[in-house]
Amino acid sequence: MAHRADIAIVGAGILGLAHAYEAAKKGLRVVVFERSQRASGASVRNFGMIWPVGQPHGPLHEMALRSRSRWLQLLEDARLPYWPDGSLHVVYRPDEAAVAQEFAEVAPGLGYQCAWLNGDEVLARSSAVQPHGLLGGLWSETELTVDPRVTLEKLPQYLSAEFGVTVRFGCSVHEINLPVIEAGGERWEADRAIVCSGDDFESLYPHVYAGSGISRVKLQMLRTVPQPDAWRLGPALAAGLTLRFYPAFTVCTTLPALKQRIASETPEYERWGIHGLVSQTVSGELTLGDSHEHGACVDIFNKQEIDELILRYISGFLRAPSLTVAQRWYGVYAKHADRPYLSLDAAPGVKIITSPGGSGMTLAFGVAARTLEEMGL
Ligand SMILES: Cc1cc2nc3c(=O)[nH]c(=O)nc-3n(C[C@H](O)[C@H](O)[C@H](O)COP(=O)(O)OP(=O)(O)OC[C@H]3O[C@@H](n4cnc5c(N)ncnc54)[C@H](O)[C@@H]3O)c2cc1C
Repeated sequence: MAHRADIAIVGAGILGLAHAYEAAKKGLRVVVFERSQRASGASVRNFGMIWPVGQPHGPLHEMALRSRSRWLQLLEDARLPYWPDGSLHVVYRPDEAAVAQEFAEVAPGLGYQCAWLNGDEVLARSSAVQPHGLLGGLWSETELTVDPRVTLEKLPQYLSAEFGVTVRFGCSVHEINLPVIEAGGERWEADRAIVCSGDDFESLYPHVYAGSGISRVKLQMLRTVPQPDAWRLGPALAAGLTLRFYPAFTVCTTLPALKQRIASETPEYERWGIHGLVSQTVSGELTLGDSHEHGACVDIFNKQEIDELILRYISGFLRAPSLTVAQRWYGVYAKHADRPYLSLDAAPGVKIITSPGGSGMTLAFGVAARTLEEMGL
């Protein structure tokens, strides 16, 4: 006899779990299928940054804030660790300061909670910032950090215990023909299905992905040894290179000059799409990254040059007890050329939700709430 659920979700990455949470809160019977024994995609390989300040003003920034408030509720309810410490983009060059100051002037009028801080004010907020040559920084209140590995492990347990969500690990979905779903060796029936399979475009509905304009981005990441117990990072850190990366900053008229200077002065950062972000884990390690290599075919081998460039850049603005690297890995996310994420109708009752790019942690719960609204649930 087939098992039964109201809604079946493919993938236990953050998008799959966010959809499971939103559906379960509405009283629906939810089953989540994850092909790995534990989530191993982009959602456990990231910084754990919920980063509204990076989103462009308007609907996406609003979605990020909506997602953030859902994250906060869930993290509190599930008693999961998080740091509501905000973020600092620290700057050392006049053209970086010009962008950060311009953003701090215009952004509050666009709904951002941020301000320009001079060097002393930055150092008062964070002892992890290199003081030498520091001109100041953009302080934003809205960023949260979670520990992605802890969160992605504990969330399924919480959803099962609190909402009765069934989570099947080691269970790959190979066919959806509603109401029937073939997953692992099991046959399920569900009224609806949401496919959150990350950057797997080949296993389910390949013809839908084929014409969608979706591709892959590979990011190299590093993690330090744990810092001493008494030392905490405080606000998550970014710096000048990041100002050219997030679409929020495109409102700044001073941005093109900064981009031009970086491209001509440090083409190696441009070539590999490098910027410097720093977050901290429950165990005190610092997560450092990242780079961006675009293309459907991902190089499975990491480049030592990229790791060195990331470390060189970050050691220019981060002052931490130890930058000894303990782990290196890469992650891959799905990305559409010009859409913030994809919601595709794959078949009656079946949606594919994917490619939130580098903002999946930030947007997940906002996207999930929107999907259920679109499905009339
Ligand atoms: C290195 C890195 C750093 C990042 N940093 C941040 C950050 O700090 N903040 C932020 O907002 N975003 C960040 N992102 C982006 C974010 O991590 C992704 O957008 C997000 O994790 C995507 O979530 P997902 O659930 O779509 O995909 P995934 O996490 O990849 O999950 C998809 C899951 O589906 C499963 N699956 C696939 N096919 C099947 C099938 N047929 N049957 C069963 N299971 C299947 C896979 O095994 C996988 O576990 C980062 C990404 C990377 C790679």
